Amino acid sequence: MSTTYQATAAFAANLDATDELKDYRNRFHIPSANGKSLIYFCGNSLGLQPKSTRAYLEQELTDWQNLGVEGHLHAKNPWLYYHHFLTDATARLVGAKPIEVVVMNSLTVNLNLLMISFYRPTAKRNKIMMEYMAFPSDQYAVENQVKFHGYNPNEAIIELMPREGENCIRTADILAKIDEHKDELALIMIGGVNYYTGQLFDMATITSHAKNCSSDIVVGYDLAHATGNVKMDLHDWNVDFATWCSYKYLNSGPGGTSGVFVHEKHAENNLLPRLSGWWGNDESTRFKMQKGFIPQQGAAGWQMSNAQVLSMAAHRASLAIFDEVGMDKLIAKSKLLTGYLEFLLLNGKRKDFKIITPEDVAQRGCQLSIVMNENGKKTFDALTQNGVIADWREPDVIRVAPVPLYNTFEDVYRFAEIFHAV
Ligand SMILES: *Cc1c(COP(=O)(O)O)cnc(C)c1O
Repeated sequence: MSTTYQATAAFAANLDATDELKDYRNRFHIPSANGKSLIYFCGNSLGLQPKSTRAYLEQELTDWQNLGVEGHLHAKNPWLYYHHFLTDATARLVGAKPIEVVVMNSLTVNLNLLMISFYRPTAKRNKIMMEYMAFPSDQYAVENQVKFHGYNPNEAIIELMPREGENCIRTADILAKIDEHKDELALIMIGGVNYYTGQLFDMATITSHAKNCSSDIVVGYDLAHATGNVKMDLHDWNVDFATWCSYKYLNSGPGGTSGVFVHEKHAENNLLPRLSGWWGNDESTRFKMQKGFIPQQGAAGWQMSNAQVLSMAAHRASLAIFDEVGMDKLIAKSKLLTGYLEFLLLNGKRKDFKIITPEDVAQRGCQLSIVMNENGKKTFDALTQNGVIADWREPDVIRVAPVPLYNTFEDVYRFAEIFHAV
């Protein structure tokens, strides 16, 4: 594609004019300063607010105002069943069956809950494999799960490393590392898209390779940077479990709720240990107030507390948009948009940087991570002063994520112009 790109404002304007998804930008509130829209490239950190979110929230506020506790049964969207209203759209988003997904809690909480069930170390098989430079919350969670079971994190955690002089981790090296440790691996838990480099891991290949090595290796993913950004088929890939947040690419508001995937093959396994609460209990006996936890089948059986309706209402507003567009169209635009950004960065006058995100579109989503050789923070601050909202990571990385739902080719063009000028 890159060979056909042109570095002109007219070319960018033409891509916008012919963009099938161009009207979706109007469905979002775009932050502005001095009357001018900001170039918002931080949808990987906090997605923008859909204009429809307010009405979804107001519906629940109004029902609460008018009905009080009666809203559990008589709200327009009865709160008792609120999490059900998110299931089908969530399943479509990640390539799952409805029984395999539930929306609940927040991400790191769910990661811990899922590891309680799916990290079952034994004297022989107690290692967890994860990627080098995983998101800190995941590192802390894994470290303490290991300690919780009485093992030493320095011995039990195997980190997948990039080669000397490289930033991303080669799939072949991951597979070799799995082979090397196949008799001692209890769990592989990787971020589907690494938050720092933007590398999209080949989850299908990694999962099937691990399963071929041993059916005792459990494979789970943190999909915080993958969901709503890349296409996934969690069911077909035979992934055991996954979880993600809703406030990054999924535009569901700060601190928003989280999604969970548990493969159908575990749906009826009542022997899996889990932390439990009334909402995970069989719905027909939930209010009988009896002893004896009977888990619901599927991912819903991991719920503990009743639905966080306000947070889920915001999430519903956003899921409706994703459902309407569909991941296929979104990804087609995403590749074109990020490809254009890459083209403009590499073909401008400035050369004092390197893009560490893979060039291969099969190994990335919309984010590009730019390592600055010098004056990184200065460049970042100048971008900010010129109306760009991007993300700075010490010591030298600028992360930019043009998202296909609301960013434009003009955003990308203007960004590159500013980047090369400052
Ligand atoms: C954003 C992110 C988190 C944040 O976790 P919360 O529990 O939602 O605060 C955790 N892990 C990864 C990989 C993330 O990208």
